[in-house]
Amino acid sequence: MLLLATDLDGTLLGGHEDEKLKLYKILNENPGIKVVFVTGRGLDSVKPLLDDPIIPNPDYIICDVGATVVDGATLKPVEPIQSEINDRWPGALKVDLYMKEVPGLRKQLVPMERRCSYYYDEAVDMKMLEENAKELGLDVIVSAGKFIDILPGGINKGFTLRKLMEMLNVPEGEIIVAGDTLNDLSLFQTGYNGVVVGGAEDVLKEATADQKSVFHATSNGCGGIIEGFRFFGHLEY
Ligand SMILES: [Mg+2]
Repeated sequence: MLLLATDLDGTLLGGHEDEKLKLYKILNENPGIKVVFVTGRGLDSVKPLLDDPIIPNPDYIICDVGATVVDGATLKPVEPIQSEINDRWPGALKVDLYMKEVPGLRKQLVPMERRCSYYYDEAVDMKMLEENAKELGLDVIVSAGKFIDILPGGINKGFTLRKLMEMLNVPEGEIIVAGDTLNDLSLFQTGYNGVVVGGAEDVLKEATADQKSVFHATSNGCGGIIEGFRFFGHLEY
């Protein structure tokens, strides 16, 4: 068995058209490969992908940068993991109130739950931002040089994936994670085998450069994931 826990934008949704089709075919035709989406998107902006006949349907979806975890078929929260996350979130209204006073932040107009996401510019007061987040017991994740996610304390993509894998008793050796930006770093820090796909953010490449469990692919997106499958011994794909 193999379980692919993959970021979406720039990773499962990235790469050359022919390599995308090739990977989607592999995932759709091999029921022995389980798929978990692990994305910064909110659930509402993952849903349209589930109706796409070509993109493989996930067994589970981790979204909101790790703050939401649902069953891929029923879209029901995975308990008790979801409740544990909810307990660490003070509510968006309170977070917005604290962040409103930080210069250089602009709220993202995307669907989100149990996290607040912003754009930032050079005017941002990162120290004030971090202090305000700390006061609420929250974590700050910076990504792609322009996005900031405020998350429940200790929650990130890697935390929630690890909880899910432990709950499902998936052997570590059967898991491959994949991603392309800094908000994927926590996936690689789980210690599971991982693929940093081609075209990834430099800061992610640097942060994972010395990690033995991480393979740095040449091809972008899906092509990189296929390279990773082979690198980790799944030569049949
Ligand atoms: Mg991405």
